[in-house]
Amino acid sequence: MTKKKLMILIDKDTGYPLCARGHVRSPENLQKSGVCKICARDQQRKYQKNNKAKVKERNKRYKANNKEKVRESNLKYYIENKEKLNEYSKKYFKENREKLIEYNRKWAIENPLKIKEHQESYVNKNREKINERQRKRYAENPEKYRQVNRERVNARRRKNYELLTDSYMAELLGIKLKDCPKRLIELKRKQVKLKRKINKELELAKNEEKA
Ligand SMILES: [Zn+2]
Repeated sequence: MTKKKLMILIDKDTGYPLCARGHVRSPENLQKSGVCKICARDQQRKYQKNNKAKVKERNKRYKANNKEKVRESNLKYYIENKEKLNEYSKKYFKENREKLIEYNRKWAIENPLKIKEHQESYVNKNREKINERQRKRYAENPEKYRQVNRERVNARRRKNYELLTDSYMAELLGIKLKDCPKRLIELKRKQVKLKRKINKELELAKNEEKA
């Protein structure tokens, strides 16, 4: 009967024993159970690599069943690594600026409803904050904001006039856009176009008279 001898190798530099694969078994490299951390991590990576679908499914299930816990742990991780993460994302944005802008632009075009929903929900959740911010900005520089407001109103008028938008037609009819039948909007648009045509003809006739 032969007994296998367990050879324990010692790291010459640190005096700590080595694990079966040659990693130093220092206190920092040991799990509570005494397993070598590097080996455990390697094994975990190997398992994850060989069981991608299973791991993905398990993670998904875990996240779904532990929403609060996952959120807390993500938040904790974020707070503890805030500076590093901010630095990293700043650097990432700088290095991929063009690509990210292009990606966002494309995404926005493909998902207009999501953007609208997101904006609406943000405004609803932060109405007080937004109003307060606007009041403050206005108070700090009223002339500038009056000017901005005038420009905005003028731009909207121009757009309404040129494009004969649905909302403008509803406004002319004195009905809220959401209560205004599509058919009525189309009729109103025809009427406005016709009126403009008549006015133009009248103008021409007047000028001919003068000449
Ligand atoms: Zn090891």
